[in-house]
Amino acid sequence: MRVDVLVLGGGLAGLSTAYHLRRSGASVLVAEKEARVGGTASSSIRKGFVFDQTGHLLHLHSLYGRRLVGSLLRGNLKTLLRSAWIRLQGRTTRYPFQANTYGLPAATVVDCLAGFLETVYGHKRELCCASDFEQWSLRRFGSGICRHFMFPYNRKLWGLPLSRLTTEWQGRFVPAPAPAEVVVGALQDQTKRFGYNAVFRYPRLGGSQALADALAARLESGTVSLGAAVISVDLAGKTAWVRGLGEVRFERLVNTMPLPEFLDLSGPWPAAVRAARRRLRHASVWCLNIGLDRPDQTGRHWVYFPEPRYPFYRVGIYSNFAAANAPAGTSSYYVEVSRPGGARFDLRDLERRVLVGLRDCGVLERGDRLLAKEWRPIPYAYVLYDFPRAPALAAIFRELGRQGVESIGRYGAWKYSFMEEALLDGTACAERLLNSKMHPAPRQEGRSAEHLLNPYSEGKHP
Ligand SMILES: Cc1cc2nc3c(=O)[nH]c(=O)nc-3n(C[C@H](O)[C@H](O)[C@H](O)COP(=O)(O)OP(=O)(O)OC[C@H]3O[C@@H](n4cnc5c(N)ncnc54)[C@H](O)[C@@H]3O)c2cc1C
Repeated sequence: MRVDVLVLGGGLAGLSTAYHLRRSGASVLVAEKEARVGGTASSSIRKGFVFDQTGHLLHLHSLYGRRLVGSLLRGNLKTLLRSAWIRLQGRTTRYPFQANTYGLPAATVVDCLAGFLETVYGHKRELCCASDFEQWSLRRFGSGICRHFMFPYNRKLWGLPLSRLTTEWQGRFVPAPAPAEVVVGALQDQTKRFGYNAVFRYPRLGGSQALADALAARLESGTVSLGAAVISVDLAGKTAWVRGLGEVRFERLVNTMPLPEFLDLSGPWPAAVRAARRRLRHASVWCLNIGLDRPDQTGRHWVYFPEPRYPFYRVGIYSNFAAANAPAGTSSYYVEVSRPGGARFDLRDLERRVLVGLRDCGVLERGDRLLAKEWRPIPYAYVLYDFPRAPALAAIFRELGRQGVESIGRYGAWKYSFMEEALLDGTACAERLLNSKMHPAPRQEGRSAEHLLNPYSEGKHP
């Protein structure tokens, strides 16, 4: 088999690449190892419950992203105002913690407020150029907010000392309220919604899977091959071995599978790349999906759990994203537990502790029956932004660039990003391929590579 572009992985980044090449005349093959498309944003159906791989909410921040998703999910998209909370010291307060300490025990509120004011009026502000996340948090939010939330929550999520994390990633993910907002949020129930995910969209039907399915449905038949695990790639010979397909020869290669796995099965690589690959670290997430035999009464979307007594860092309610996610009269939840990538542990013991925690915080009530239950491990969930990451990536991408290999998406580019960015990564990748010498003569169907130029700018149509 011979194709112009071989795409490794049928998640959103891989599918978007194929979608944006679909009228170019280039032959494209997307090889996906699973039996369905969607990757990390895929869903499963169990006993009438639609389970994603933890909450997958659409944050659409670019006009092109909104138009693309709007056209793909026409009529199957709803807009929701986030209802996110934090469970601490037996109380539940609004997210983000740093702007909403109202309702916590008075001593905790004072602790948080005093520490924060010290960063504003003391001398700590000038230290805001801290290079590690621990120091950055301390100087940004003060000791109280860090002790009660920032440190325990982030240690649970990232699974390593926070002094080993850089500050490259948190800009858009950690809201930084103004001093007046921190004070207001300590004195009263502040309803202002902070952060990148204050408003989000979600499919009415089909869970997060609906988006990947809609993309795949717009591709020419045969573009996506399911159950097609890529086993090895010979870059010099421009040949891949793919389960079920055998030898696939390609002109250009686009990787979206986790970068360390891609480097392991491809090559040969120079020693500098092999050394850099060994420095890439990640965290896995173990997602427990459950269906309960009663409706949810809280209306909440998700709750953060910073305290070490809970083994999970977040619990969310799928049935509050879309009623169709659960049969009538029931509700469905996801519970997220983080573990260092590759760590071994006793899943039965973890499940026991998770269920104890869910009862303790009131998610599970006496007499509740679990109608459905499944563990969905996400082996590569969060890329760790530790200090070795940036120089390692520079070495790897220098070599990938030299060999003409694209590596995109959350795990191909080895970054912390969301679904819209995976779609836009695919858009930009298709644009680069079309602008390169890969396929100089786009098919004459009224569209040329021109429509793909700068998809992020206002006014472009998917
Ligand atoms: C816990 C968690 C919560 C998240 N919540 C949100 C959210 O609320 N909103 C949001 O926008 N984003 C969220 N994200 C991020 C979102 O999942 C990703 O940004 C997006 O799905 C990444 O798509 P991708 O195509 O880059 O990667 P992937 O979806 O991982 O796609 C890679 C594909 O490669 C395939 N593959 C791997 N190895 C091989 C092989 N050898 N051969 C063939 N195929 C292979 C995989 O099966 C997969 O389909 C979340 C992520 C996690 C982990």
